[in-house]
Amino acid sequence: MAHDFLQPLTGSFAMPAAENPTVVMIEAAYRQLGLPWRYLNCEVAPAHLGDAVRGARAMGWRGFNCSIPHKVAVIEHLDGLGESARIIGAVNTIVRRGERLIGENTDGLGFVQALREVTEPAGQDAMVFGAGGAARAVAVELALAGVRRITVVNRGAERGQALADLLNARTPAQARFAPWQGRHPIEPGTGLVVHATSVGLYPDVDAMPAIDLDTLQPDMVVADGIHNPPLTPLLRAAQARGCRTADGLGMLVAQGVIGIRHWTGREADAAVMRQALLDLAL
Ligand code: NDP
Repeated sequence: MAHDFLQPLTGSFAMPAAENPTVVMIEAAYRQLGLPWRYLNCEVAPAHLGDAVRGARAMGWRGFNCSIPHKVAVIEHLDGLGESARIIGAVNTIVRRGERLIGENTDGLGFVQALREVTEPAGQDAMVFGAGGAARAVAVELALAGVRRITVVNRGAERGQALADLLNARTPAQARFAPWQGRHPIEPGTGLVVHATSVGLYPDVDAMPAIDLDTLQPDMVVADGIHNPPLTPLLRAAQARGCRTADGLGMLVAQGVIGIRHWTGREADAAVMRQALLDLAL
């Protein structure tokens, strides 16, 4: 049989790029699936994003991720958006469909998929702490997954109110904004507590978001978007109070599974991908 030395290409455009471990979990999945595909981690400055996307088109890349600071800026270089990317207003996964590059957002979908390992969000009430890019994606997907009421708690009122308005206007959920002041209590009746700010991200690993832990009840599920470290002080405190938890590493891996499905049509093994990341001892 003739050899085929042409490897299908995927990758990531971001700046900075060196600390992004996605390449490790995606290439572990490709190997496990027996696919000769590659994932190239590329540092792309904002001024070169258009050239990078044109280069990916010219080289026939099958798709790529965009991370900070390109998730919004990339949209003008694409040919269309998936439904949730349109509502969220940001893209992190680009998929080549024929000659078209379509932008999808898997941040929130990955979160919901990982959360479903612990609980079904439909019909529940949620409190989402944060209103940045990750919180927007997570809150929109929770709403599209059938969460009834979402309280957005954020330090800055403008971003918090904007997210609550977006949810009310574009999703079936009822949302309201609550300013984050002091140690914020969890409202009785809340099923899902979602922490989606950057508090606690490496190297600030001991930082705890200002949540009144005494208001956590054992029937609540607590999820944290921080993937490094996966067991955050918040999740540890929640587990000590009997809550079930979902970690940010699960969210990252689930996003990878969805991206690989978009690009290759194949179902990657989440356990293999998670282990590849844990082996890095980040
Ligand atoms: P953004 O910069 O868009 O938003 C940051 C959010 O954190 C804002 O709501 C901001 O509030 C809040 N915040 C920052 N510092 C504090 C503080 N000291 N107290 C209270 N709130 C604070 O970042 P992203 O939304 O893109 O990312 C947030 C986190 O999510 C990051 O840690 C990132 O690593 C993680 N993430 C994880 C993913 C995963 O797969 N596990 C995927 C994507 C992101 P304000 O508006 O008031 O400034």
